[in-house]
Amino acid sequence: MNAELIAVGSELLLGQIANTNAQFLSQQLAELGINVYFHTVVGDNAERLQQAVNIAQTRADIIIFTGGLGPTKDDLTKETIAHILNRELVLEEEALRSIEAYYARTKRTMTENNKKQALVLSGSVVLKNDNGMAPGMALTVDDITYILLPGPPKEMNPMFIQYARPFLLGKLKQHERIESRVLRFFGIGESQLETEIEDLLERQSNPTIAPLAGDGEVTLRLTAKHASATEAKKLLDETEQAIVKRVGQYLYGYNEDTLFTKLMEQLNAHKKTIAAAESLTGGRFTAELTAIPGASKAVKGGVVCYTNEVKERVLFIPSEVLETAGAVSEQCAKLLAEHVRNICQADIGISFTGVAGPDLLEGKPAGTVYIGIADGRKTEVHSLSLAGDRETIRTRAIKYGCFAVLKR
Ligand code: ATP
Ligand code: MG
Repeated sequence: MNAELIAVGSELLLGQIANTNAQFLSQQLAELGINVYFHTVVGDNAERLQQAVNIAQTRADIIIFTGGLGPTKDDLTKETIAHILNRELVLEEEALRSIEAYYARTKRTMTENNKKQALVLSGSVVLKNDNGMAPGMALTVDDITYILLPGPPKEMNPMFIQYARPFLLGKLKQHERIESRVLRFFGIGESQLETEIEDLLERQSNPTIAPLAGDGEVTLRLTAKHASATEAKKLLDETEQAIVKRVGQYLYGYNEDTLFTKLMEQLNAHKKTIAAAESLTGGRFTAELTAIPGASKAVKGGVVCYTNEVKERVLFIPSEVLETAGAVSEQCAKLLAEHVRNICQADIGISFTGVAGPDLLEGKPAGTVYIGIADGRKTEVHSLSLAGDRETIRTRAIKYGCFAVLKR
């Protein structure tokens, strides 16, 4: 089954808003194992919308529309589709009641054109709008499934997940079950990862393996299809094992995991605490960890030691070290990690010192980073040369810090 997304809205063509609906829906459909072959954007114009639909009908099994379901004159999606499919628009009582209730709740007076939003394509499954007024619709005509969703993402996203997704799953179930799994890697580049598993990528068919890189991480999405869900999962397991054999040392998690949630899980599982001395990263490492609910069990605290003065006075880094080796040095990273561990009485002390750029610091180039990790038995210091702008260097540094603690 393959899908085409048609976003309706002149504001998209004018560049006033980005087509984030297509991004969201593509991700959702990928998870269902439905291939998206085309994204189309068309303005609020019946004739051109009709052209777009006619083209999509020649090449897609599922056509998903977003936008143009509202009450105003320029909202003409369902009218156009009704015309193309030769269907009536009929009043959907429940939708009308919920529109009236919406107006009553928000203490506004309903205008006549709002009733238009309660009109739906005859014979369609009505998709409830829990966050707005215009209902969505789903129907299959001549083997093509049409799904109409509202434009605003805060209405469209939940409607898709709550109502359109189950409708699509129902369609898929007649054929096969789809299981997918995302493997998350850190510390390996996309091209290196692809080289390591080149043969697997070349002979992939079921499961499919889709790599995606971003923010210093690489993910592989495995998608398997089978009449039985258990068999589909087995296919995923086999492929995962083959991949892990090659690049398992870089694998840190699955699906929605992040390096930060994994680190938190590991600390909690071992009942360990952590404290950070952050110069380069200005508190971002601690901020990421404390953003996770329940962080107080694992995060003791930390020191943002951005200046040498604070490194010296708060974290007791000897001035000789700062003057000779410098703040950006292996020696300083080691002492920062050990001292913050002691001062905060944590099991693990971690430190970040380095040059975020763009200028040199202590004669050292941007991207020079030292990360110290002290656990009371030993202290290791990772010396990195990171590429990228200021933001990238800081982000990579905190992720590297997580990964280094995870893989100790
Ligand atoms: P409404 O009832 O609010 O008029 P609608 O279903 O008629 O909803 P549109 O009028 O086409 O939808 O769009 C309403 C708003 O939704 C747009 O102004 C925009 O903010 C957002 N929107 C529409 N299409 C998209 C899209 N493809 N991606 C992201 N946002 C969108
Ligand atoms: Mg509208």
